[in-house]
Amino acid sequence: MKYEFEIRTGRVQIDHTLCETCDEYECAKACSLYGRNILRIKDGKPVTFMPPEEIKRRDNECLACEFHCPYGAVNIELPFPELEEYLKKIER
Ligand code: SF4
Repeated sequence: MKYEFEIRTGRVQIDHTLCETCDEYECAKACSLYGRNILRIKDGKPVTFMPPEEIKRRDNECLACEFHCPYGAVNIELPFPELEEYLKKIER
């Protein structure tokens, strides 16, 4: 099951099926060290525990949860439409 929430400039997706056998919780540890403590572990899975506006306010886009998860369960989408437009332009 995909768990998703929005951040100020994008979206975080966590595949909770990959968390079922994890007992390391590097995502939440990294969030508390490098981020703003948005993720907590509940019933063995990382979740947020605050309203959506507060997540957007707190998030610092450190990407640490994705980088530190050893199982590739976290995917952070940060759309950058200006870059995509630029790449289309230079492909001509
Ligand atoms: S996101 Fe990664 S580190 Fe966090 S609980 Fe799931 S598998 Fe473990």
